[in-house]
This record gives sequence, structure tokens and C-alpha cells, in this order.
Amino acid sequence: MSKIIATKAIRGAHKIVARAKEDLTKAIDESGIDSPVAFPDTNYYLPFAYAMLGIKAQKAKDLLEILKYAESLLPPIPTENIWLPYLGPTLDAGMATLFAEEIIEVLKYSFGNAVTPTHDYWVGFTTDAILREQGIKLVDGRMPGFAAIVGAAPTNAEAVRMVRELQERHILVFMSAASDGKCIAQQLNEEGVQMGWETFLVPHGNDIASTVYALNFAARAAMTFGGITPKGIKEAREILLYNKNRVHAFVLALGDVDDEKHATAAGAISFGFPVVADTDIDQILPTGVCRYEHVVSPVAREKMVDKAIEIRGLKLSIDKLDIPVPYGPAFEGERVRRPQTACEIGGKFSKAFEFLRIKKAGDVENGKIQVIGPELDTVPEGGATPYAMIVDVAGRKMQPDFESVLERRFHNFLSEAMGIMHTGQRDMVWIRVSKEARKAGLLFKHFGVIVHAKLLKEFPSIVDKAQVTIYTKLEDVAMLVPEAQAAYQERDERLAGMTDESVDVFYSCKLCQSYAPTHVCVISPEKLGLCGAYNWLDGKAASEINPLGGNEPILKGQCLDPVKGEWQGVTEYIYQKSNKTISKVSMYSIMDSPSTSCGCFECILAVIPETNGLMIVNRGYSGMTPCGMKFAVLAGSVGGGNQTPGFMGVGRLYLTSKKFVSAEDGLKRLVWMTKELKEALSDKLNKRCIEIGAPDLFDKIADETITTDAQELAAYLKKVKHPALDMPPLM
Ligand code: SF4
Ligand code: ZN
Repeated sequence: MSKIIATKAIRGAHKIVARAKEDLTKAIDESGIDSPVAFPDTNYYLPFAYAMLGIKAQKAKDLLEILKYAESLLPPIPTENIWLPYLGPTLDAGMATLFAEEIIEVLKYSFGNAVTPTHDYWVGFTTDAILREQGIKLVDGRMPGFAAIVGAAPTNAEAVRMVRELQERHILVFMSAASDGKCIAQQLNEEGVQMGWETFLVPHGNDIASTVYALNFAARAAMTFGGITPKGIKEAREILLYNKNRVHAFVLALGDVDDEKHATAAGAISFGFPVVADTDIDQILPTGVCRYEHVVSPVAREKMVDKAIEIRGLKLSIDKLDIPVPYGPAFEGERVRRPQTACEIGGKFSKAFEFLRIKKAGDVENGKIQVIGPELDTVPEGGATPYAMIVDVAGRKMQPDFESVLERRFHNFLSEAMGIMHTGQRDMVWIRVSKEARKAGLLFKHFGVIVHAKLLKEFPSIVDKAQVTIYTKLEDVAMLVPEAQAAYQERDERLAGMTDESVDVFYSCKLCQSYAPTHVCVISPEKLGLCGAYNWLDGKAASEINPLGGNEPILKGQCLDPVKGEWQGVTEYIYQKSNKTISKVSMYSIMDSPSTSCGCFECILAVIPETNGLMIVNRGYSGMTPCGMKFAVLAGSVGGGNQTPGFMGVGRLYLTSKKFVSAEDGLKRLVWMTKELKEALSDKLNKRCIEIGAPDLFDKIADETITTDAQELAAYLKKVKHPALDMPPLM
């Protein structure tokens, strides 16, 4: 154990705690001891303090309590560089630092007595909604871990290289603090690198105190996904252990590591997050709190990521494709703006489509990729090109139903290449290729390389062979499009004709059991998974691809109640797969044994007792709703794999199904929905309203522009004569 690090960390902790005290005193002097303090859109107060101490801080005076605790943790500053045989005092100093940093940051939000945290590209505090969406990927393994980068690289080029390396490994990157007045996020910004949650690059702030956002994110992950309720400091160990075991994070310290950074690093070590530095700070090698080493330095910058992965024990799978640009989910959400565009494909710019069809094995030459017509490098800068991508697949277990499932994945496959922005599908596709990617050598041929490799990798048991042909001459595209369009239409008609009655099997999805152990989605032709990502065909394809995976066929068996949607086979299946906790599920009811909810629902459906009706709110809407709760609050009470009569998580398309809460009379119960959802689904909903003989129903459904208050809503419904008012009582 190092002497210097202990001295520096303890000294740094004293400085940060003193700074928090000063800020808090000033805030209380100016605004009073009872003035409210809060981070935006969270139910976890100051999440780190809440997780550790169970304190539900809502007023300035509550911060005094946290500060007092932080002060009590501070070890005396060593008068010289002492040697400490154990980590205790350093870790205490680290914890004190994090409490103080969270106070400093919440004061910025509550009183604006410092720089605005969300200034420019800085994102500041992570809201609960984002935490649910992103944190789950960390907990269930889609993201192998997160890196908190503190400081800046010596050059912008090195900064870019380092984050690309992390992005390619699907590692989430949090950025904070400056060295020599600069933070790595500033360097990325100068280089035009797109930052934000969608690219896995999250700049918290340039203040060292903003590093606490990475740790209060981790603490909330334990509470949200681990179901750990904070009680007090004695129980805090559980939260720290959850992080050590489930959230694979590490700190990369770039540049000068001052006292404050040492202190913050000591806080990270308490979570089991090791620190790798590029400068010569003293190492803490004995293992104990962290899985392996605590602090390793100095490490050459080009080796830092590998070193961190090694000492944190991360298991990684990288898609290494033979293409000239980086590839991975971190690039999926990346946008290519017009001025950066080398080539437009489809959209309003050119005729384009993508089409996957089954062929006999003898007619497919596996891995054959052809580009017929001009290649990407000959399109004039900023111009457009016609495009048809036809993918022929063969496989003994391939079925016509899987064509659309596979074809829909082209979007993810191509988007994950840096510099390709892919939206839409079929003959509605719109693609942009960036100048940077084209300069790196990206060609249409590589589109084929990507799609071929990913089809074989992700669907190994149904795709034996695949070949890709890309046409870029208008006459070819025009000649080929009728065949594709006829196939699209046939698929749609077949799917539209499918009902829950017309099939013998439904499919389960248990993918969310890793964090909601009793949750099972039952997916039928007329009810999709509540995350919105899996319909019946997807379930069918997935269960064939991997019979031992998260999706299994459920033989419906005898129908026990056609109105509520109860089947013998479904009941038995759910009972077994929910660890014998859920004894009955009514697929079409929100009141009687409704489906369980995990945490990734697209929307939440809820009863509004005052109106005898239901409301629906989508993720992403942060305003108030007539049931008196915002989405984030509702989500907290609905999730976790429980049945909560009166509340239910659903996929947004379920709204347009004939089986939409048919046990409670369906769509006519819907009295309020968000404007965004109403607009997005307007065509389909209007059609449903006509089908159920209530063509004016759509206009009677209120949204937030009419009211978010239950009483006002009831009055409005009366005025427009909404049918819910005359229906049998819901409760
Ligand atoms: Fe599967 Fe349901 Fe989870 Fe979606 S929400 S991944 S359908 S279990
Ligand atoms: Zn889920």
C-alpha cells in the first residue's frame, strides 16, 4: 500500500469536503435552510448519499446531515507521507469525497451557484429514465462495463483513438474533470466526435466533482436492477458488492493526478472499480476490495484500455469485420449530418430498397458479394445513388416467416458501422454515408461483408449460406423492385390475417429474468412483448435459432377464458417459469391477474379511477400524467416482475391490437395518452376506432395539451361524451 496515495487522497478529501461546506453555507445563507434541493427526474434524491446512508435529501438542511457524515469520515491529514498498512483511511477519505462531490453538484442544479452543469455538450446528472434504458445493458451484459475517464489526453488524436477503442468494445464511457484546464470531452468536441448516450460517450462535466455522476449511476443501478433498498451505512456494503460483481467499471486517469483526483479515485476503489493511470502515481497492487489490482500506473496510453480490461476481468467479444471503419453498437445511434455526407441513398434522394429472400442451397454461393454498377467511391461528393441490396439466404431450417425477421436486422447491422446512418427498411430505406467513412475506404462491397457476416453469426442455426448483390444502376433497381414489393405485400397480408385464435402456440420471452427473475412476456400474434422489440414472428424465429435460449414455444392448450385471455398451457408455463410465484395471467386484462412487468416497457398503461378509464404514457415523456405520477415514478412501482392490477407495462403497438385490454372493453377505455404517442399511432388508431364503430373516439382521447389533472380530465370527458363514462365500473 502506498504512502503517497494515502496522503494525497486524504488531503484531496479535506479540500473537497471544505468546498462542499463553503458552497452549502453560501446556498443556505442566500436561500434558507428549507429551500428544496434536487437533481432532475429522479426518485433517488442524491443517489449516492441515499444508497449509502438511506437519507432522502430534499432540502438544504438534509445536505447538512450528509456533510456532517462526510466530515466524520475524514481521517486526519498526515503531516508527512506516511505508510499505511491497510486501505481503511484512504477508502474513508474516498467516500467522504463522493458525498461532498454530490453535494457540490446538486447545489449547481438547485441554486445555480456555479456553472450550469448542462452547459454546451455536458450532460450532467443521469435521469432515472436513461438509467433504466442504459443501465440494464450493463447489468445484463450487453455492455461489458463502463470506463470513467478523468482528465485529458496529451493530444486530440490520442483522445479520439482511446474512445474509439472503448466504443469498439461496447464499453460505455463517462467523462469528467480536467487536466491542464482541459477534459477529454472538450478534445472530442474539437474533433467533431458525436457525444451522447447513443454513442456510448457521456460527458458529465469538466469539474472533478462531476465524476460522482458515474458513481451515483452505479449506485442507482444496484438499487434499480439489484432491487436493493438502502437502509443505512451498515447495509451499504450490499450496494458496493453488487457493483463489484455486476457493474464492470474502471477509471482511466489521464494527465496530472492532483489531490482531488486521488481522493475521487479512492472513492471509486470502494466500489471495486480499479484505477489505471498514464502518469507515475503510486500503485496499489494487493487485491482485496477490487477484484484484482486497485491502482496501476504508469501505463502507456495505448495499453491503458487493455490493462483496465484485464484487471477488471472483463469478458469481451469484438466483432472483427474486414471493413475499413470501426464497428460495434456504440456507433449505431451515430448521426451523419448533411454537411458530413458523402452519399445519400434512398429517402427522397433516390430509388432504393433492401430485400432478403430464401433460395435453394444450390442457388446460393456462400460469401459471394457483388456490386453491379458504380461503386461508392465514384458517387460525386454529397450526391445520391440508386441502390438495391438483395440478400439470398439458404438454410435447412429457414422458413418464409423468417425473411422479414432477418431483413429487419439490416438496420442494426449496417448502422453499427461508423459512418453509416441507416434508417427505415424495405423500399422506405434511407442511408447516409459520411465523408470520413468514405475517405477511410468504405465501399458498397463492405455493406455486403457486414450483412453476410452478421447473418451467419446471429442466426447460425437457420442461415447456412448467404450471398449479397448490390445494384446501383437505376434501370436495374427499377426492374427489380416489383418482385420485392410483391413480397412485402404478401408478408403484410399474412401477418395481418394472423390472430391469437389462428395459432396453437405462443412464444415466451425470458430475456429480462436476469434482473426481474419472475418476469415472463407471453408473446402472441396480437400482443407483442412489452419492450416493443419482439413480436410473435421474432419469438418463433428466436426459438428455432436457439431452442435453449430465452424464447420458448408455449402450447396454448385449453382456453379457460377467451375474454380475459386465459389458457391452460399459458397458466402452467408461467407458474413454472416464474419460479412458482405467478399462478395466473390474463393476457388481455389490466385488472385481473395482468401480465407482469419487468422494467423495459415502452409504455405504461394505468387506471385513472376518477374517469373510469385508462391512460397510457410512453417512455421519454417526462411531464406529469393524470394518474398523478410521471413516467419515472410509475416505472418504479410497476416493474420488478410483479403483477400490479391497475398498472401494466406494454409495447406501444399493443394499443392498435384487437386484443388491447379486451377484458375491460378495449380501446373505448382509453381516455388519455401523450401527444407524441397519439401522433405516432394516429393512422392505425383511427382505423381501429372505425372498426369498433366509434369513428370519433380518437378525437375524444385527451393528451397533455388538454390536461394532466384527473379532475379536469373527468370534466373534459363529460363534455366530449367519452364512452368510458358509461361503461361498467373498472374497480
Ligand atoms: Fe423479452 Fe419481454 Fe424483456 Fe422484451 S420485455 S426482452 S419481450 S422479456
Ligand atoms: Zn424487460
